[in-house]
Amino acid sequence: MNLIRDLKELLLPRLCPVCGKLLMQSEDTLCAFCAIGLPRYRVTNIFDNLLLRMLWDRADIKKATTYLSYNHFSPYHKLIIDIKFHGRSDMAIRLGQWAATGAAGQGFWEGIDALVPVPLTRWRRWRRGYNQAEMLAHGMAEATGLPVLSLLRRTKYRSSQTRLTGEQRRKNAEDLYKASVPDEWRGKHLVLVDDVMTTGSTLANCAKALLDADPSATISVFPLALAQ
Ligand SMILES: [Zn+2]
Repeated sequence: MNLIRDLKELLLPRLCPVCGKLLMQSEDTLCAFCAIGLPRYRVTNIFDNLLLRMLWDRADIKKATTYLSYNHFSPYHKLIIDIKFHGRSDMAIRLGQWAATGAAGQGFWEGIDALVPVPLTRWRRWRRGYNQAEMLAHGMAEATGLPVLSLLRRTKYRSSQTRLTGEQRRKNAEDLYKASVPDEWRGKHLVLVDDVMTTGSTLANCAKALLDADPSATISVFPLALAQ
């Protein structure tokens, strides 16, 4: 087994996605230096924080946390690019595990019943081969033992909205997501999982769709990163 792994590393050297340095055998996903420097986002209160304040007037969200600060000018933004566009579903799973383990220390998982990834359109999912939010959720599932439920679907493509009024545009965005919640999952506490939260509108719209489908549900959110 080790011989195969050694050969594989000789032929396909593993590189740190942040700095590009060759990874040592003992290093997992990131080099030790970049792992120590991960731009962790400090959430001190899962019931009252910036994420919840960004969402509060748009959807009823119980608690929120995140793992990383996302800054386009930081070399760490390559992690997000890799999981979204470079086929690194393995890295999405690993980041999901790390994020979930970090949140365990905040008591985030208490009372949670399941993980619900934000969906992609079918076309984008097909082109990418996977949905990065789903991979993050699977990583979180490995760390927490929670199930991953695909309760949401992205209903239609975003067409050109330049001629629409602000109100029409907002309505269109709200209609992008639809949910169906089977009877056995009604009244549960669900965590929405996504890659990067920027304005929060995707998470808010997904939360609304879930609450439309099941008003007795409780919704929390866990994006991997918050854009700064
Ligand atoms: Zn590195």
